[in-house]
Amino acid sequence: MIEIRGLEKYFGALQVLKGIDLDVAKGEVLSVIGASGSGKSTLLYCINGLEPIQKGSVIVDGTDVHAKGTDINKLRQKLGMVFQQWNSFPHLTALENVALAPKIVKGKSKAEARDIAEKQLRHVGLDDKLNVFPSALSGGQQQRLAIARALAMEPTYMLFDEATSALDPELVGEVLDTMRLLAEEGMTMICVTHEMGFARDVSDRVAYFHQGVMEEIGPPEQIFGNATSGHTRKFLANVR
Ligand code: ADP
Ligand code: MG
Repeated sequence: MIEIRGLEKYFGALQVLKGIDLDVAKGEVLSVIGASGSGKSTLLYCINGLEPIQKGSVIVDGTDVHAKGTDINKLRQKLGMVFQQWNSFPHLTALENVALAPKIVKGKSKAEARDIAEKQLRHVGLDDKLNVFPSALSGGQQQRLAIARALAMEPTYMLFDEATSALDPELVGEVLDTMRLLAEEGMTMICVTHEMGFARDVSDRVAYFHQGVMEEIGPPEQIFGNATSGHTRKFLANVR
């Protein structure tokens, strides 16, 4: 599981995370919502060690992400990440893109890596695009390719940072469907998202971030139906 205690993060003098306490259990789907600049992306970067922290701790499966001596590259293999826009390697086919990390990072043979890549491309519904270059894929297909690349490392956790925000509206659904499938399969997921329908339908819990504070967290029925925080209510009134 992921255990976050008293997490504080600054960029220079600007405090971006103001003491976050959060546990994410195996198999849980957590959606993180909140206004732009509230610290959602930074939270994900602190979880996978892409950003150093100033106070508190992030423990992933018993390992302190930010402790000296932690093998962060090894730990990061557990944490698949999908960004708003992921530029896959343009000179590699979809299959080669997905096979790359298993080969290089995990030391799989060429045949094994190919099998993994085929399996994960099938998983995200791109089985007919194995030998296509990224430039020939739609935005939604490129995001599904990014998901396949992350899955190819067999992560325990998947972190999504607004995976659908850069897509044309008609392409959002296919990516959300892929995320929904992963959730149904039991993947542990933290999804920073503006898709309130997804947050409501797919999440076990929803966390609302406001100016670096986790203002409220609870099941979707609570957050969307009976939020206790005025900030949460105001945010939701404006996004819907
Ligand atoms: P969100 O993802 O909720 O939109 P972010 O986590 O990206 O918010 O940003 C939180 C705050 O931290 C914002 O004020 C943003 O400008 C600031 N910030 C983010 N990344 C950096 C950085 N690398 N350097 C300085 N400030 C940053
Ligand atoms: Mg962000």
